[in-house]
Amino acid sequence: MEGSEALGVHLKPEWKSALSHPTAPWDWSLPENVRGVWPWNSAWLHSTGHANDYTTPMAPTLANTERPIRDWKAPSAAQAQNGALREELDRIELFVAGAGRISKEEALFLHNNADLLSLGRMATSVRLRKNPEARITYIVDRNLNPTNVCITDCGFCAFYRSPGDRQAYVLSRDEIYQKVEDTVRLGGKQLLMQGGHHPNVLSDFWCELISDIKARFDINCHALSAPEIEHFARYEKRPIAEVIADLKEAGLGSLPGAGAEVLVERVRKIIAPKKTTTDDWLEVHRQTHKTGLRSSATMMYGNVETVAERIEHLVRLRDLQDETGGFTAFASWNTQPEGVPQEELFPRTTTPAEYLRVQSIARIFLDNFDHMQTSYVTQGMKMSQVSLAFGCDDFGGTMLEENVVSAAGCFHLESIQRIESLIRNAGYQPLQRNSWYGIEDERNDGQTWPKNREEAATHPGAPDDMRTAARASRPTA
Ligand code: SF4
Repeated sequence: MEGSEALGVHLKPEWKSALSHPTAPWDWSLPENVRGVWPWNSAWLHSTGHANDYTTPMAPTLANTERPIRDWKAPSAAQAQNGALREELDRIELFVAGAGRISKEEALFLHNNADLLSLGRMATSVRLRKNPEARITYIVDRNLNPTNVCITDCGFCAFYRSPGDRQAYVLSRDEIYQKVEDTVRLGGKQLLMQGGHHPNVLSDFWCELISDIKARFDINCHALSAPEIEHFARYEKRPIAEVIADLKEAGLGSLPGAGAEVLVERVRKIIAPKKTTTDDWLEVHRQTHKTGLRSSATMMYGNVETVAERIEHLVRLRDLQDETGGFTAFASWNTQPEGVPQEELFPRTTTPAEYLRVQSIARIFLDNFDHMQTSYVTQGMKMSQVSLAFGCDDFGGTMLEENVVSAAGCFHLESIQRIESLIRNAGYQPLQRNSWYGIEDERNDGQTWPKNREEAATHPGAPDDMRTAARASRPTA
């Protein structure tokens, strides 16, 4: 058995050949988070023709990269303080501070070698470039789940019920209107509406619902998810773009980034085999952006993925954002395993430090995303306050009702006053926003922009006429 396999590490074939290279000083007695980052790698890469595979002078730490995340070990902070690791971290930090775009190999290197404070500094430098004001935004909203019936059976989901289950429901219009009315009375600006993949509640139900709500209330429907839209298209045997066009016509204002999990097929086949593929998830967002609507993006990590697959997820998002520019924000959280159907699949070892690591790397890597949202519902208020020093500039929604992660035993709903107090005590001014990140708060000087989905259609992927009109609506300084 090779040394790597004895340690339970699975290496790519080309890296296995590195181990057998006569001059490669691959030393299994070295601390594992240092292996593979010594300067010899650069020389070896050049001598073997692999140099073009990497844009960094050093290859990522392999032992950690190829491991299932369940066995991943955080790097030692002390080892990042000097020597070759520190030199490489300093180089990347300088590059990021100069608005450089890091490669996926550099992201892997950061994930496996950087100490948390270095990551926080780098993420903050990107945050300040994108959002230099000392403020943190949030939105008053409500989660509303018109149905919990779902036929997709994701192993990590404690929210859904199969058709016919005695706890399965579809809310009546009256129940929905009452919830919307309560939300509007409390100053709510957004309804985050999502359901399960119901075999009979399809796009016509949702178009009518959204159109009826828009006719009665002044509130944005931030509704559905890429997997739900792909489910409609599949059941209705029509193109994704047509379903989105109908929803937009009905009044859909923006699309949440849910259902992304990890955008790598190997992972999706294990944790959600019946759910939308990576390509389809991206295609729904691409088509959404092409109609002129904006959407957000997410990642649910900490299940069966490897570090390389986490980074691959970010690569897919950054590539699509380069193409359309339609994403407004990114948020991540770890899988909430309690009480889910396949509880045994999901490790309980993801920690707050890992959350800060992933969220900071996302801020550094996704240099074409304007906003990073913290997830206090999954991480708790204290951790979310800390995440403001790791690149997050938005506190998300107040979620006057939350049914999905709370079904998995994770529940951190908090009052507006408490959110504001935490933001203030972290040194920022709290301000309310709308779904398109326009500030809608009487404490803010200046005009709100964008106010609605039409004004938000400034991204390159939007139709030309919408972009022109959206730009013309921008207030002059
Ligand atoms: S995560 Fe969504 S698609 Fe998966 S089972 Fe739950 S409700 Fe259904």
